[in-house]
Amino acid sequence: MKSTGSLLAALAVIAAAVLGLQTYAPFGTTAAVGIAMGAGSIAAMGVVLVLAARPPMIERLFGGLDQMYAVHKWLGIAALALMIGHNTIEPDLEGVVRETQAGEFAADLGEIALNGFIGLLLISWIKRIPFTRIELPWPIWRFSHRFTGLLFAVAAYHQLTIDKPAGIDGTLDLYLNALSLAGLAAWLFTQFVAPFLRPRNFVLDRVDRHGAVAEVTLRPQGRAMRWQPGQFAFVSATGAGMGEPHPFTIASAPAADGSLRLGIKALGGWTRRLPERLAPGQRLRVDGPYGRFVFRKRVQRQVWLAGGIGITPFLAWAEALTDTDRQDIALVWAVTKRDEAFAADRLAAIAARHPGLSVHIVASAEDGRLTAERLAGLVSFALRDAELFYCGPTGLRDAIVSGLKAMGQKPRRVHSEAFELR
Ligand SMILES: Cc1cc2nc3c(=O)[nH]c(=O)nc-3n(C[C@H](O)[C@H](O)[C@H](O)COP(=O)(O)OP(=O)(O)OC[C@H]3O[C@@H](n4cnc5c(N)ncnc54)[C@H](O)[C@@H]3O)c2cc1C
Repeated sequence: MKSTGSLLAALAVIAAAVLGLQTYAPFGTTAAVGIAMGAGSIAAMGVVLVLAARPPMIERLFGGLDQMYAVHKWLGIAALALMIGHNTIEPDLEGVVRETQAGEFAADLGEIALNGFIGLLLISWIKRIPFTRIELPWPIWRFSHRFTGLLFAVAAYHQLTIDKPAGIDGTLDLYLNALSLAGLAAWLFTQFVAPFLRPRNFVLDRVDRHGAVAEVTLRPQGRAMRWQPGQFAFVSATGAGMGEPHPFTIASAPAADGSLRLGIKALGGWTRRLPERLAPGQRLRVDGPYGRFVFRKRVQRQVWLAGGIGITPFLAWAEALTDTDRQDIALVWAVTKRDEAFAADRLAAIAARHPGLSVHIVASAEDGRLTAERLAGLVSFALRDAELFYCGPTGLRDAIVSGLKAMGQKPRRVHSEAFELR
């Protein structure tokens, strides 16, 4: 299921390229290849915009929003590469098409779209300025990203009105027009409809501070949200000057009254402002749930490994355990200092009720770094018989997984959640 989405997205692009090749083959290889690249680029951009609209049904085909965004990103890069190829080869149809003024205008527009896309995609792609530690601020990245749809409209207009040979098969045009319409409709929905339609109203019940982490409890007002433990939502508080939606895992099990808790670590501008700006009674908007990092009941032996604030999905999983859950679960929480383990007592209380769950907190400043050997020593079953669920910095995951591999204890499967969407 997880790769179905990627496969369908790739097929949509390949179909456009094949149709392009087929339709323009009679006009020579160069023209056919050039058109195939242009057609593939339009198709890729159409799909990119559809994915950006986060359709819930489609998210399932990708195994989660983070995976879907990863495909969105690579497809965007592929679209740009194909567009550059199309522009470089420049299908020469002189003498074959009847040149019109509208067609020439369309050709100029194609150039504008290309240059705009190069600029936008470079901004989108480069998260950090090369050879420096300077990260592009998220709001700038996001603001620039909003213009993708406008440039796509220009590219779609280019393909619609560019001069074409008379009498060619219209299937390619039909296909590209359908994808262009879908992409543009998705972009309009993302920019102008979804922000009003999707988020639900919540009110802040309480804020508990634990050093750099603020635990906030929200109560629904009106339409409650249903979620599975481990899913996340985009949260914003326009009234408090925090209107930019930010993603956070819902760190509590679903409750009958729809209340939810978030554990938010102060990492940047928005998250640092939050404790001062939010007071009980503050209205917030919550858009979700998203994500597929959910508890797998069928897996008998599980290691839940959290790095720092990566504990939040496991807090929800642990809270949601019922008496019928008889899995063997070792939850290992790696923190720097023991007092950063803000939910240690809560987890200990849950473990006391569930004999299958054991909780281990490893504080690197006091106990040394968590290594694969130490992890294997903490877990009461062989890791090679278990599945590893990871949430935290990718460096820790990679070190642990390669260490376990070297020990012959490679887990059956590794599932991980990236707190990263671009
Ligand atoms: C699926 C998911 C679940 C998450 N769950 C939690 C959680 O439970 N607890 C927690 O403390 N943090 C969580 N995060 C991380 C949290 O979203 C970021 O720390 C927060 O958005 C940083 O915003 P900032 O403005 O304070 O910092 P900045 O310095 O502006 O951003 C730091 C980094 O956070 C990311 N980011 C910033 N703004 C956004 C945005 N609007 N949308 C998406 N990403 C953004 C970017 O990668 C950026 O480089 C999660 C992230 C994701 C993707």
